[in-house]
Amino acid sequence: MIDLHTHTNESDGTCTPAELVRAAVDARLEALGISDHDTFAGYEKAVPEARAAGLELICGIELSTKLGSRSVHLLGYFFDPPAPAFCDYLGAMQASRRDRNRRMAERLRSLGLEVTLEEVEARGRSITGRPHFASVLLDKGFVGSRQEAFDKFLDESAIAYVPRLEPTLEEGIRRILGAGGIPSLAHPVRLGKAAGDQFEQAAREMRAAGLIAIEAFHSDHDPKLTGQYLEIARRLDLAVTGGSDFHGEAKPRVRLGSGYNGNLNIPRQVLEDLRRRWWCRNY
Ligand code: AMP
Ligand code: ZN
Ligand code: FE
Ligand code: FE
Repeated sequence: MIDLHTHTNESDGTCTPAELVRAAVDARLEALGISDHDTFAGYEKAVPEARAAGLELICGIELSTKLGSRSVHLLGYFFDPPAPAFCDYLGAMQASRRDRNRRMAERLRSLGLEVTLEEVEARGRSITGRPHFASVLLDKGFVGSRQEAFDKFLDESAIAYVPRLEPTLEEGIRRILGAGGIPSLAHPVRLGKAAGDQFEQAAREMRAAGLIAIEAFHSDHDPKLTGQYLEIARRLDLAVTGGSDFHGEAKPRVRLGSGYNGNLNIPRQVLEDLRRRWWCRNY
């Protein structure tokens, strides 16, 4: 079993990179991919830990992109070090986040909720995101749950939301490819819910834009849905990726490797196939 989609506390997970490696060893994973939002810091910190533990570690990233007005998450996997220009680009994303976060804290205060940028940033490490705002709002008693924090204040349609710099899906794909990575559409179910039967056509268009893989295996997919994505990937000659989207205590029901109640068991072959695609593209 492998897990290619996980988050550390360098983005919005709760485990340190070392704790995540330990958990992967305990779960007997054959390989662990770290795909934090907009930062490689978690992966980099996990490298020596994984080496010491004899665990195969894969470098990944998760970008939030725009497809029209919709937010679409895009994973990138790197089997060589990502090109420096891509790391600079992540730096620009991080700067834009800080600016957005400052304005979002101001907006919350203008609504009478005493929230400072400093206290939100104290919850984050390499990046601070809306999930950290949700924790502060919950802990200060302004909302009764994290979901309420999003519904009332933080969701794109809610009153305190401030946008940040995000690439279009096409630009995200182009940047990951340009950095030598393999772009994969994250948790396609979130697009499918809106797109319905249109998913295959949407995937075809993304493939034309350079997409190489879709995340057929994900905690939010039941076996039937996973089978449908595997079939679509086969028809369109897309590779597949898979992971639990583990966030530690931020999403306590999602287990590393096995998802919700064991709904995941991603075969090692997924990683071998992905690596072969990458090799054929880059060499
Ligand atoms: P950010 O990148 O800081 O804008 O935060 C985006 C993250 O917030 C996403 O990856 C989700 O984890 C979370 N998120 C965004 N919208 C919602 C929502 N409506 N409900 C719950 N979580 C959300
Ligand atoms: Zn996350
Ligand atoms: Fe995501
Ligand atoms: Fe994720």
